[in-house]
Amino acid sequence: MASSDSPEQVPARASSPRRTFAMTIVAQDPSVGNAQGMLRATVPVPADRLEPGPRSHRFQVIDYDATARILLPPARLTAGNWQSGDWGWVEPDPFCNRSDAALLSDPAFHAQNMYAIAARTLAVFESTIGRRLNWGFLGHELYLVPHAMAEANAYYADDVRAILFGYMPDRPRRGTRAGSRALRIARSERLDPDAVYTCLSHDVIAHETTHAVLDGLRPRFLMPGLPDQPAFHEGLADIVALLSVFSMSEVVQSLLGQADLEGRIAERTVTDQELKRNALFTLAEQVGSALKDERGSALRDSIRLRPSIRWASDPQYREPHSRGEILVWIILESLAGIWRQRLADITVGGSVSLARAAEEGATAAQHLLGMCVRAIDYLPPVEFEFPDFLAALLVSDAEIVPDDKHGYRDTVRGAFARWGIQGADDHIADLSLSALTPVYRNLSYTALRSDTDEVFRFIWENLELLQIDPRFYIHVEHVRPTVRVGPDGIVVAETVAEYIQFLEGTPAGLSRAIGLRVPEEVPSGTRVRVLGGGTIVFDQFGRAKYHHRKDIRDIRRQQQRLSYLVRNGLSGDDSLGVSDGMPAGQRFAILHQADADPRETW
Ligand SMILES: [Zn+2]
Repeated sequence: MASSDSPEQVPARASSPRRTFAMTIVAQDPSVGNAQGMLRATVPVPADRLEPGPRSHRFQVIDYDATARILLPPARLTAGNWQSGDWGWVEPDPFCNRSDAALLSDPAFHAQNMYAIAARTLAVFESTIGRRLNWGFLGHELYLVPHAMAEANAYYADDVRAILFGYMPDRPRRGTRAGSRALRIARSERLDPDAVYTCLSHDVIAHETTHAVLDGLRPRFLMPGLPDQPAFHEGLADIVALLSVFSMSEVVQSLLGQADLEGRIAERTVTDQELKRNALFTLAEQVGSALKDERGSALRDSIRLRPSIRWASDPQYREPHSRGEILVWIILESLAGIWRQRLADITVGGSVSLARAAEEGATAAQHLLGMCVRAIDYLPPVEFEFPDFLAALLVSDAEIVPDDKHGYRDTVRGAFARWGIQGADDHIADLSLSALTPVYRNLSYTALRSDTDEVFRFIWENLELLQIDPRFYIHVEHVRPTVRVGPDGIVVAETVAEYIQFLEGTPAGLSRAIGLRVPEEVPSGTRVRVLGGGTIVFDQFGRAKYHHRKDIRDIRRQQQRLSYLVRNGLSGDDSLGVSDGMPAGQRFAILHQADADPRETW
């Protein structure tokens, strides 16, 4: 409209737009606190235009309760004056000084808490990987549903583009059904402060957001695969949840204990044993207590596992969460080791400075989290196995931190070795060491940074170097340029391209084609699909550096996968290896359901 164009109506813009909003959140969950009450934190959240919900360009909170069939109005967190150049965010936020009970019963606070932690989790991935990350579904916004159902569950459902968070009405009383009580909670627009809400658990929110982010980065990890693949989804989600708490130094300090007048704590409170007992090392305290009916028990306490090199055949590690806990143990054990080392360096006369102790923990946690996240780009797009993760961790970290002064890589390698997992060098081929020279004739370096056809041409010209068998269908699915910044300011620009190969046929057909023995119980008319593929990393000049490959002709792996799918009933009606037989979007719902064994949740 003409009138709004007049000069006096154009507001003055701030010289530099603000990068973050400070938001109040529950630091761990409502059960973790001290004498002052629930532990809170004020954390920076990426600044964005926040419409009611809140709704940003990546997330939208929708407060619909399917149990009670109630839709609560969207929370309005800003004044909504977008023209002012600061998105209308006012600090401190209105929740900053309110009582615990007021926060726990206010749906607007629940919405802010969930939004803030989900947005921070996405930001950890984007800043570490160095590019925008797309969701695994078509569309830009992920729905966050804070009170989706009266159920001890929370899960990412890709088909509805949402993370659904359940809540547990305060212990169902004798004679009342959980459902009827849920209804009363939702009808008044004030929530029951005594219920357990998964949307108030930092760890549950960070865990579920990680599932969604990883689905965007490696969409084929949700396809029927080897058991390590769903376990990686769960393990990484726990690792991100646990390590991201360390970025809140006030939280780390308060969980480490009370300092004396000089701001110091006794060394005996930060021994290896004490650190591992700390809430910093355990997951989802309140939800765990509610499910296990025992105060102070976390949902998962992976650091207590006993390493064994026979885990692969141990039934204890068959279920994805339990299997994923192996990775969590490895990273937490590495964290404890590095942290202890750093604490030893600053211990004087039997005590350490509380602030320094927290800072050292945060530095180690941040570095390890960065290593884990950066490694994802170096993973193959299909057929994931644990040694792939170790190999990707070591190679990607060496790119960004060439001199590993603090010994992170050795520590991580050592922790994997306790489970007998070796990152064999043959997992990721360093193409600069190959006897064959890559062929770049008629290739455009610029196009190699973004064009799937150009990358396919590179593959086509270099089949021998890459050891790719062209008899099988080849499809380059993604080409993604990235710019990573290492802890010492080293900038590494790369392009990551992923291709897959697959072959489909009847059991007899596959036996003839590649000598694969499909398990006998599979009917002869079944459509069986086997997969392979790889990730090629190009440097800033378009030269191919690394190739992480899962060969489609690896018969040992293919047979293991098919037997695993058959044994666990993960097949479609007349197919094997194509779908896992679960209804769309229900994979995590079923996986995350709280049943007899509370360890098998989220
Ligand atoms: Zn999960």
